[in-house]
This record gives sequence, C-alpha cells and structure tokens, in this order.
Amino acid sequence: MYQNPLKKTIEYLKGAGPERAKTLQSEFRIFRYEDLIQHFPFRYVDKSKFYKTSEISSTAAEIQLKGRIVQIEEINQGKIKRVVGKFQDGSGTLELVWFKIAAWQKEKLQADLHKEVVIYGKPNEFNGKFSITHPEVELVEDAKSVQLGLFPVYPSTEKLQKKGISNRVMQKMMLNLFAENITIPENIPENVLQHFKLIGRNEALKTIHFPKNLVELNAAVRRLKFEEFFFLNLINLSQKAVNKQKNRSNPFPIVGEYFNRFYNEYLPFELTGAQKRVIKEIRTDLRQPAQMNRLLQGDVGSGKTMVALLTMLIAIDNGYQAALIAPTEILAIQHYESITELLNCLDVSVELLTGSKTKKKRQPILENLENGQLKIIIGTHALLEDQVVFNNLGLAIIDEQHRFGVAQRAKFWRKAKLPPHVLVMTATPIPRTLSMTMYGDLDVSVIDELPQGRKPIKTLHKTDAHRLSVFKFMKDEIAKGRQVYVVYPLIEESDKLDLKDLMDGYESISRAFPLPEYGVSIVHGRQKAADKEFEMNRFKNNETQILVATTVIEVGVNVPNASVMVIENSERFGLSQLHQLRGRVGRGAEQSYCILMTGGKLNEVSKRRIQTMCETNDGFKVAEVDLELRGPGDMMGTQQSGVLNFKIADLAKDKEILYAARKCVEAILNQDPTLANPIYNGTKQYFLEHHKDKVGWSQIS
Ligand code: ADP
Ligand code: MG
Repeated sequence: MYQNPLKKTIEYLKGAGPERAKTLQSEFRIFRYEDLIQHFPFRYVDKSKFYKTSEISSTAAEIQLKGRIVQIEEINQGKIKRVVGKFQDGSGTLELVWFKIAAWQKEKLQADLHKEVVIYGKPNEFNGKFSITHPEVELVEDAKSVQLGLFPVYPSTEKLQKKGISNRVMQKMMLNLFAENITIPENIPENVLQHFKLIGRNEALKTIHFPKNLVELNAAVRRLKFEEFFFLNLINLSQKAVNKQKNRSNPFPIVGEYFNRFYNEYLPFELTGAQKRVIKEIRTDLRQPAQMNRLLQGDVGSGKTMVALLTMLIAIDNGYQAALIAPTEILAIQHYESITELLNCLDVSVELLTGSKTKKKRQPILENLENGQLKIIIGTHALLEDQVVFNNLGLAIIDEQHRFGVAQRAKFWRKAKLPPHVLVMTATPIPRTLSMTMYGDLDVSVIDELPQGRKPIKTLHKTDAHRLSVFKFMKDEIAKGRQVYVVYPLIEESDKLDLKDLMDGYESISRAFPLPEYGVSIVHGRQKAADKEFEMNRFKNNETQILVATTVIEVGVNVPNASVMVIENSERFGLSQLHQLRGRVGRGAEQSYCILMTGGKLNEVSKRRIQTMCETNDGFKVAEVDLELRGPGDMMGTQQSGVLNFKIADLAKDKEILYAARKCVEAILNQDPTLANPIYNGTKQYFLEHHKDKVGWSQIS
C-alpha cells in the first residue's frame, strides 16, 4: 500500500530507532518524518575552511583548525578545576580549555592524543596568547564529514544529550531521511512563488538542513519564513471571514439626533484627522448585521475617549444601550467623569458601577439598566457580574485590552440576545506585526496622530548622584504652578520591600518638600479605596503638589496640570510601562518632563530601554524596541503566546515578509474565499491537514 513517506514515524528512520524516537517525541514532539524535517537548525557553523593557528586574530569568530593535541593536563587551582590541552598544527600552538568535562570525554581526549583531529570553537585572547574554551574535537578519521561547508546546529536538551542524541546524530538522521529520496509537496501556489521569487518547498527544506553556502541558505530561510506567515494569515483571515458570517449582531443603520447634536453643537474641539478616520471605520462596521470586533490602538493622549463616546452615541441613536468597561476603579471613575461632563448638555443617562458601590446605590442602577432607561453604563469588572442585566445591550467598549482575558470578553456577549458590537481600546501600542498576528482576526484602527498643540515631553536620564538637582528642578516647576508625580516600582502589591522603598521615598520627599509650602500625597495599591480617592482628589485639586505613587497611576489618570514625571528605579520597569507612565504628563499646554532615575550599574537591556525613552515619544517606536528586547511571547503574556511560537520567522526582524504574506493572502481570499481554484490545491490540502482545527473552515468551504 502506498504510504506518504512524510507520515512515516521516525522510529523506522535509519539512525533513530524506538529509544531515540521516544526521546524526540517527548522533548520536541517529533513523531513523524515531517516533524523531523521541521526541526530546524538554530544556527550554522562555518566549516568552509581550515584556519592556521598563526592566522588567528583577536576578532575571529568561531573557526576550525586541523592538527594534533600533544599534551593534556589537569590543573587544580583551589576550587577551580580545569583540563588544559596543547594543540599544534605546524604553524603554532593553541591552548584548549575545559572547565567542566565528563569522565568519558577526558578519557577520549587521552586516547586520541597525538592523532590528527579537527577542532572547532571561538578563540579568546589573554595576555597576547590565544585559547579556545570548550572546543569541539573530532578525529579526522571519524569525521567523514570533514567536507567543508555550513553545518547545522540543532536545538537540543539535556535529555537529548544524555540519550546520546548529539548534534552529529541529529545531522546523520537528517541525512538518512533525505537519502530516502523524499519529495515534499508544495503548499504555496505557483504564481505566488513566482511573484515573490521564492524557491520551492522541497528545495527549501533540504537546504535549511544542508546549505552549501550562505546564498542558498538565505533563499531557503526567506521561503520558509514566508510560508510560516502565509499560513498564519490564512488562519487569521479565514477566521475573520467565518466570524463575519457566524456572529450576527444588530446593525446600527442610522446616525441620529444624539450623535448629530453632540457633533455639531457640543464637540469641545475639532477632531484630529485620525479620530475622524477611525469613526468612519467604526461607522462602516456598525451598519453591518455582523458583529464588529475592532481593536482601537492609540497612544496615550491620542483621544480615544472621544471616539468611544461618539460610538456610544451611535448605539443610543439606534435604540441600544452601551457599556464601557475599564480595568481599574480609578480609570472607570475617570471615564465616568469625563463622559458625564461631555454629555452634560444632552439628555443621556450615564451611571457608574464599580465593586465599591453599596448595594443601596447599586439597586436603582441595576433596575434602570434592566428596564432600559439607563443608556450608558461605565464600570469595572463589576459589570460582568450576573446580576447586571441589560435591556438591550448593543455595544461593549473595553478599555485597555490586555488586562482582560478572552473569556471575560465573551461574558459580555451573553448579556444580549445577539452579541453586542465590540470595540477594544488599548493605549499600549502594539507593533503592527504583533497586532496582525495576535489580533489577526480582529479589525484594527489606529489613531496615529496627537491633538494639535501638544509639546513633546522631554525625557531625561538622571542617576542618584543628581538627586539634589532633580529636587531643585521639581521645586522650580512647582514654583511655576505645576505638579509632579514621583513613581516607585511595586511589582507585586504584596512585596514588603517595595512598599518600604515607597515609604522611604515618601518620607525623604516630605522632608525635602516640607509643609506648609508644599503638600505631598501618597497613593498605592494597598490603601483602602476611600483613602486612595481622598489622596487622589487632593492632588487633582492642586491641594498637594507632589503625588508619590506606585504604578497604580499607570493607566488613565488625568491631571493636566502635572508636568513632571519622576520615575524612581526606572531600570526595573519595562518599556511599555515606562511609556505609559510618561503619558501621565504632557496633557496640558505646558512643557512637560519625564525624569528616569536609576541606581547602580545598568545592564545592556536597561540601557537600551532608557535610551529609547530618551530618544522618542512615539509609542509605536517604543513598542518596536520592546518587541525586539522581549520577544513577542513575553510582550503579550505567556497565556497568549502559543500562537506566537514561530519556527523560523521573527516578528521583530521579518515584518516586510509578514506584510507581503498578509497582502498576498488577502488578495487570494478576496478573489477565491474557498480556495476553489485548482491552483490552490496544494495550499488547501496542507491547510486542511495542519490547521483545520484552528478555523471553522467547514463554514466557508
Ligand atoms: P487617551 O487616548 O489616552 O484615552 P483621552 O481620550 O483621554 O486620550 O484624551 C486626552 C486629552 O486630549 C483629553 O483631555 C481630551 O479632551 C483631549 N483631546 C482629545 N481629542 C482632542 C482633539 N481632537 N483636540 C484637542 N484635544 C483633544
Ligand atoms: Mg484613555
């Protein structure tokens, strides 16, 4: 019977066998030939030539030499043990050093003394002498592969090593696999290959394991990256198509009295071009009988609240209720305050519901929500509770996306007969590459323009040695009537050490800024809600000039008169957090400042973060660097990172390929949503075989 060789399990592969197959399964989920083929090298060693010891320069990367080890000795210096070998190749001598060495390895080195070997590693220079630490050593007679070229290095684990699956064994298995003359079917349409000048799949997969040179390797890598993005987009975009068909929602066909009156008579400022464009995008969605699932991204201060408000007015114009949910109480209160103020002139009922509302105050709100008199409700997670029943919820706006899980988003859906339209707002800009992958099935709107007249915030880096001058600067700004935030890292609200930092800081600031001339407020996560509110209000009303706080103020707090943000131990914050905190200033007409304080010596990553902050105010640029430094998984939280496990593509580096693949898939699906044309047979077959479970594909095919 014909069997697709790619489906063969690897225990039948020469060089593998049942034992090794088991290990490969448990460590890397490699079951079949096709899985092994997809186990890509993560780097290559360049063995394209042999160096002479006399040629070694201090800048050399990893190199390969041929010669003999003429002496081995063990040196014990106190606790530090090392094995040192003397290598000679006729042109000179080189020291080889092992700090940790297994007994069998030591024996092998002894046994191979004076025989011809190939060694490989990165030379180090010390006192003008060169050495290689932990070199690879191989007898020339063993190394059939002392052919010159690029050699694959495979990801490995301790268990793999213990079971004897060394890199060489992996290489041999790969060679044996390809020796079976396997042809790997194409999965990207021929016309796409031609258009993007991509090599075929079969060739690419062979080359990725055994490239003859860098040119070939690059072509293979490019093709495989494209393929990875191509299918990712195929999954996302077909999911989007399925959603559009499946998730019916109430259309909002009109823009009516509320929207128009507000827009024409009460709008406090001219909308920015970006705000107008986004409203238009939302309008187009809302007219459809399909659920809107839109992500609204805009940097801090870009004016998302106004977009939210106008969207809510459209819902009300069409006879529906709207809900706005925020991640913290402070933020919910703030939304409530700014929205009631804006709607002052219209007769629209707005209420606030948070966990700290008493039962008595809650009751009438819940009643009016259920009988439909209440049109807009703003709140925290409390809105998701079962007792919150809507009359006809038509729109749910979620502020600050990634503090809410997908499951919580879904809870909203069940609160209406047809799922409400959903607008997700986030002030943490995500690089376009990431939103395309993470939220590839959502539509994305971006406010990429700040309201006019904002002065860019000046960001400065200062160390503890500058503290007095920083205090002086704060005093000067306060003398001009401004206010100042001082923020301390409090990673865990329960962390006592961090809290002590905050309290010490509060005390030293209170001493440097004494009453009655100055007032200092303090806010942190372990205060009672009422205390927090009291302190916040004193600061808001300019009764205190300095607010010492933890990151509870990270999101949403709006005090336009505050013009200085001092961040203590800023090396302990992530980039997106620093950017969020900086966004608390620069909200008024005055020049604002962000001062990043650091303590001791900074590591490379902290340096890069602080440098980035000092260089740019653009949240999307900040996010790009963040992506580069942290990787996509960390950036989005591990919970969601599953979809971001790319085999070969790299979101931070390969955005051009991602965009090209996205456009290409869009064009294909627009023209042929079910991939009916036979030119897509290979693609469709691969998709159904590997990704069917990820999409309700049956719906559209
Ligand atoms: P964010 O996007 O961070 O939620 P906000 O909606 O809070 O931003 O807006 C920040 C500030 O900018 C608010 O004081 C708001 O009134 C103001 N604002 C919003 N849009 C405009 C605009 N088009 N012109 C001038 N000011 C605006
Ligand atoms: Mg906001």
